[in-house]
Amino acid sequence: RSEALQAQKGREDHHEENLRPKNLDDYAGQKELKAVLSLLVAAARHRSEPLDHLLFYGPPGLGKTSISLILAHEMGVNIHLTTAPALERPRDIAGLLVKLQRGDILFIDEIHRLPRITEEILYPAMEDFRLDITVGKGQNARITSVPLPRFTLIGATTRVGALSSPLRDRFGFIQRLRFYEVDELTGILHRNAQLLQIAIDEAGASEIARRSRGTPRIANRLLKRVRDYAQVESDGLITEPVACAALELFEVDPLGLDWTDRRLLQTLIEHYNGGPVGIESLAAATGEDSQTIEEVYEPYLMQIGYLLRTARGRMASAAAYRHLGYTPPQRFEQ
Ligand code: ADP
Repeated sequence: RSEALQAQKGREDHHEENLRPKNLDDYAGQKELKAVLSLLVAAARHRSEPLDHLLFYGPPGLGKTSISLILAHEMGVNIHLTTAPALERPRDIAGLLVKLQRGDILFIDEIHRLPRITEEILYPAMEDFRLDITVGKGQNARITSVPLPRFTLIGATTRVGALSSPLRDRFGFIQRLRFYEVDELTGILHRNAQLLQIAIDEAGASEIARRSRGTPRIANRLLKRVRDYAQVESDGLITEPVACAALELFEVDPLGLDWTDRRLLQTLIEHYNGGPVGIESLAAATGEDSQTIEEVYEPYLMQIGYLLRTARGRMASAAAYRHLGYTPPQRFEQ
């Protein structure tokens, strides 16, 4: 599995728990988001009311779960974490809702994947704090309403466009998480190196940061890989040359692109003359899943201006040609 794919949650999740920032001060970057959230928390506390429902969106590993845990901490409330695929049947979500206490946060990851029937239970729950349950079957079926305490729903998604509008409209606040700057990632790496007792110097940390695709989860993962390398191949201290050599070995290039990123761009350039090409054709030609391309790979390639999303399909930019050692075609000269 490639590095970017591993940015999605996986088996390594439990290792992540000890690296999670515990409060807003430890949570690096996302300045605008933090400013708004601080205000919301202060206002809600002032009125002794729960927070309004929040929706966080952005690529995997940017800190949607972490910021939600911090919000619960700041509000002094419980948070219940779940993910849409675990809420297949109406009773799964009903079971969670009836357990909530006033002010509690219910966090639903991958909320764009909620089945329709589960989603429909959420509408009255979010809007009127009411759980409507159907009792009986056929002609005898009737709806019973159970009042719920006021709670906060936090939804997280990598695909805000895939949310139905009735669901999206019920969030009081919708916020995008952005990719992190190199200096922000460097700061995260120093903090985590200390927690994991890894020796790293300034240049070593910024080298890993530059190759982390603007994503803290990837930075953490690369840090552990480079530590292994440093312990075996040198004296354990992570310096710039050590980080470079290690990441070269793991096929993470100086821009943080991995094998799959390069293959996507190469396919675009070699098979489709730089595009435009539809996402499904690109997926078929590379053997990658189109949703994974859209949610995991594309956002960063677009961010660095290597991939363009146009009405007619995906295109490689002149910079992508150059990065991979190709000469950009004439059309880029105009
Ligand atoms: P998401 O929910 O968006 O997929 P997470 O909140 O699970 O991402 O973040 C993944 C990991 O990245 C966390 O365990 C944490 O170590 C690190 N991380 C994310 N955001 C930050 C941040 N702003 N500051 C420090 N570490 C972060």
